[in-house]
Amino acid sequence: MSSGWRERLTRTFGSRLALWYFVLFATGVTAVLGLAYGLLGQTLRARDREVIESTLVRYATAFGAGGLRALDLAIQDERETARYEPLFVRVLIPGRGAAAFFSLPAGWDAFDLQQVQVPPLPEGRAWMEVRARNSDERLELLTARLRTGELFQVGKSTAAREELLERFRGRAAVLVGVIVVAALIGGATLTWSALRPLRNMTDAVGRILATGSLHARVPVAGTGDSLDDAAALMNQMLERIERLVERLRASLDNVAHDLRTPVTRLRASLETALQQGGTADDYRRALGDGLEEAERLVTMLDAIMDLAEAESGTLKLKPEPVDLAAIIRSATELYADLAEEKGIALTTALPEAMPAKADPVRLRQAIANLIDNALKYTPRGGAVAVSAAAQGPELSIVVADTGIGVDPVDVPHIWERLYRGDRSRSERGLGLGLSLVKAIAEAHGGRATVESVPGAGARFALILPA
Ligand code: ADP
Repeated sequence: MSSGWRERLTRTFGSRLALWYFVLFATGVTAVLGLAYGLLGQTLRARDREVIESTLVRYATAFGAGGLRALDLAIQDERETARYEPLFVRVLIPGRGAAAFFSLPAGWDAFDLQQVQVPPLPEGRAWMEVRARNSDERLELLTARLRTGELFQVGKSTAAREELLERFRGRAAVLVGVIVVAALIGGATLTWSALRPLRNMTDAVGRILATGSLHARVPVAGTGDSLDDAAALMNQMLERIERLVERLRASLDNVAHDLRTPVTRLRASLETALQQGGTADDYRRALGDGLEEAERLVTMLDAIMDLAEAESGTLKLKPEPVDLAAIIRSATELYADLAEEKGIALTTALPEAMPAKADPVRLRQAIANLIDNALKYTPRGGAVAVSAAAQGPELSIVVADTGIGVDPVDVPHIWERLYRGDRSRSERGLGLGLSLVKAIAEAHGGRATVESVPGAGARFALILPA
């Protein structure tokens, strides 16, 4: 394995996950098999000992009843039965040198019977084991002293149980092998498919970084799981960022264009004055024109900065007792010339006086923005009506026009910074006006609303607490 490969294997999240899955799974299976093996060994050993003990009791009873002859008969009888298990049996009578009785199943000469001793019997009985000469087989022996003094020894070979355990080990090894392979393949496949959404996200981000274009989207599988949700959210976020970047680009174009006009005019008037010379009056007129253009520039820059202030929540109001009717009247008068020029009837319907507590500068700015929009989006021959009225605990200022109206798809967005309706592209604008209106309304504890019938006009309202 090359070092790059090894690094990938240990460093990538997917392979670490697969490795963990595999290790846990394999350890679990091995532990379960090991436990089963231990239990099986113990059970088989307990069973063997039980057979030895019960046989010893039976033979001792037969011996007690009828001596060695009866014992021999009992063994003969048992050999005939189906559940006979070959056993080593020896009876020693104290005082006699050789065994009084000895029975060894055929084929058991592998055990070195010299080793079969009488162990110390502190409790009248004791277990011992004798190894076979050339195999792992052992002879498990119980020695017991009868009340009458004779020593009984019954033993059983461990061959049968060793064979069973060996078969278990063989099967377990095959099983572990199969499971290891399955766990490796399963773990790798599982993590590979589980991490697909993450890979898709990485790919999408990689594409964005490589191309600088925000068009890339993460495929959404529709499974509804949390990774799928994350992918969908990421797409939403990308969409928003893309839209915002587009709007920023468009408004930067507009800002540049809007700033260009007054600056060009300023330069033209200064140039003309310089080249043509003339009387002090000519210079004064040129300076006056220049000042006007500079003022326009400042207003534009102020709007941009006001909005930044409103966005950061630091729009400061200087509220004072004012007459709303007077403010609206003066804001409308500012647009009288423009309305006439465009052939639009600009009318007001206002009460004599309308006392309120508000920031007069900001309020005039908001109303001016609404009138400006109404004139901008109403074609020649239309009408714009500005009215104000107290409605219960609220004061509402309404600017209604007979213009192009707001497209229903635009309605939820027109208050957003830099948002411009599709049909407004032909008009100059930054998409800042309404967001400033909304910010000013909210700073006063009020709100701004719109009702519109596309093609028939729009009705914008600025609602303030009385
Ligand atoms: P701008 O006018 O510079 O585009 P605004 O924030 O003032 O930005 O307005 C946002 C959008 O709301 C406009 O682009 C236009 O689509 C829509 N809008 C605003 N006022 C009107 C109106 N009186 N009639 C129709 N649409 C309007």
